[in-house]
Amino acid sequence: MPQPPPNLPTVKVSPRGATRLNNGHFWVYRSDIVTTDGVPPGSVVTVTDHRGKPLGSALYSSSSQIAIRMISREPVPDFPALLRLRVADAIAYREPIVRDTDAYRLIFSEADFLPGLIVDRYRDILSLQILTQAWDSDPLRQTLISELTTRLNPDSIVERVDPRVRELENLPARASGLLHGSKTATIFNMNGVQFHYDALEGQKTGAFLDQRENYAAAAQYAHGEALDVFCYQGAFALHLAPRCSHVTAIDSSRPALEVADQNATLNHREIEWIEANAFDLLKDYAASGQQYDTIVLDPPAFAKSKRDLDAAMRGYKELNLRALKMLRPGGILMTCSCSYHVSQLNFLEMLASAALDAHKTVRILELRGQSRDHPILLNVPETAYLKCVIAHVSN
Ligand code: SAH
Repeated sequence: MPQPPPNLPTVKVSPRGATRLNNGHFWVYRSDIVTTDGVPPGSVVTVTDHRGKPLGSALYSSSSQIAIRMISREPVPDFPALLRLRVADAIAYREPIVRDTDAYRLIFSEADFLPGLIVDRYRDILSLQILTQAWDSDPLRQTLISELTTRLNPDSIVERVDPRVRELENLPARASGLLHGSKTATIFNMNGVQFHYDALEGQKTGAFLDQRENYAAAAQYAHGEALDVFCYQGAFALHLAPRCSHVTAIDSSRPALEVADQNATLNHREIEWIEANAFDLLKDYAASGQQYDTIVLDPPAFAKSKRDLDAAMRGYKELNLRALKMLRPGGILMTCSCSYHVSQLNFLEMLASAALDAHKTVRILELRGQSRDHPILLNVPETAYLKCVIAHVSN
């Protein structure tokens, strides 16, 4: 039997945890951990089954419900060396698939075999986010920064901190800030549309890069009068504008709409931005008989956990029902969900039920997901989260 490398601490998992790993998943939950005697938080560990047989190497979190995230099925005596290889692989993976953009996700956690690490590129600025204890080590951060600067030569690297993640991971509070260079603002280009980027502002790491290919798809079908609901900084609206006679876009966040308006100026587009609660506004619009030819619905994740699923489905149905009623014959609905807990089947069933209630005939033009720079790892279902349906709607 191969022996684990002697220098790494060992975490023993239950038969159920071992089965999960043998089925190709990357995670073991705390309830499936047998022993973690003296393992320091955030260590690289050797994982064994309950009999002591090595199953590979992982990052260990002492506080997350996901105690183990695998980094390799082999022993990993030198994690920084593996990190350098994985960064090179992530860059190479994207070379043939990322087109018409200088903003995209460079490293997507498990899907790039670097669990808990996200790196997004916005032209000459890299924005990184760490989601687990292991990445909080300074030497590891230094290795990552040196690898990213050597390979990509960015003007700067910024770390975006989600305070809730640090709390859950039992890490000391830390502010977002520069890790390399001094530049924090730039302009990036996606599908020929330009966007202002401020590395220390905005939601996520600044933009919703996972929708990039869907923006281009939406533009192909858009026509007439368009409504972009949950528009954030205006990405869908700006992609629809060249094809539409008028675009109205709604969001509840004033800071997002301020950037959206600057983006419209940057691209010489006229878009009507409305600060409102989308649920209230759609209700008013529907009541007053407002009609559109193209509607985009891209709400925030309604189901953050399985428990929220019923309420989430009611939210999606209300929005989609109103949108379907407001579409003129021949209209286009582009409807999205970024909740992992809502499956594609759940989402299509919701849409089917909304179509019946709205007395509309809906034909699916495209079933889409996240952009390919957010890879889906076949045996890790959690890596597939974005659903995007493009549909033709008639009476
Ligand atoms: N379509 C955008 C991303 C949308 S993210 C893009 O591709 O860039 C979801 C957006 O919904 C956020 O901008 C958030 O501010 C907004 N939002 C959340 N709740 C809302 C509500 N009740 N009414 C209107 N906007 C809301």
